Amino acid sequence: VPLLELRDVGFGYADGTPVLHGVSFSVPAGSRTAVVGPSGAGKSTLLALVEGFYPLTSGSVRWAGTDVRELPRAALRARMGYVEQEAPVLAGTVRENLLLAAPGTPEPELWQVLADVGLTPVVERSELGLDVLVGDDGVLLSGGERQRLAIARSLLARPALLLLDEPTASLDARNETLLRQTLDAAARDRALLVVAHRLSTVRDSDQIVVLEGGRVVAVGTHDELVETD
Ligand code: ADP
Ligand code: ADP
Repeated sequence: VPLLELRDVGFGYADGTPVLHGVSFSVPAGSRTAVVGPSGAGKSTLLALVEGFYPLTSGSVRWAGTDVRELPRAALRARMGYVEQEAPVLAGTVRENLLLAAPGTPEPELWQVLADVGLTPVVERSELGLDVLVGDDGVLLSGGERQRLAIARSLLARPALLLLDEPTASLDARNETLLRQTLDAAARDRALLVVAHRLSTVRDSDQIVVLEGGRVVAVGTHDELVETD
């Protein structure tokens, strides 16, 4: 039984805009799946649906074989680490942001996860280190930095599945490589479902689902998809 399975998922927003049509694919435990497609294809909507943010219009999402509608929302969310593109950062310190999902994490692990997502230089801008405030009264984080802080928080929480919306979209080449290595390492003991614009940024995925106009138009590895291009 796959960790996550989408069966014929359909969805439309309350205003009537149909967004997803008959989307089916599975994410085996410990595997990396990417959803790729042009802007407006429905990728962000799909991730939010998996996380349970919106109710499905049709079809089902199964977690380890059970329809998610039969599972308590809190239990499900604890198993999924969902990082939206506009990732929320708490008003507070970097330490507080990291510890939210994993209280009691030892100090060296906090520094390690910051290094893993390329945020060490940001924290070292202040002599307060992990206790530097984030936001107007402390270090101002760019959109990409906020997202990486949220990814660091999700990594510490060790969910069975990480749901990441465009994690490398706003990164320079160096930080993109770093984050990809980090996600590679993370994928050794958990599954990843990553949304991306471009095929090249998710070339390491075990499976790539191509979404266009809310429909799955191809599924394959990077090499398979490039060949048929
Ligand atoms: P991004 O593409 O940066 O992820 P969003 O996810 O916020 O941005 O929005 C994606 C698209 O959805 C945009 O075209 C936006 O106009 C549209 N959109 C977002 N929210 C709404 C809404 N409440 N009603 C209609 N369209 C929306
Ligand atoms: P992608 O992530 O692939 O860019 P989205 O899932 O953001 O695509 O958007 C898919 C479609 O749903 C777009 O047509 C967008 O305008 C619409 N949409 C996104 N968010 C909303 C919303 N909150 N309300 C209504 N329509 C939305």
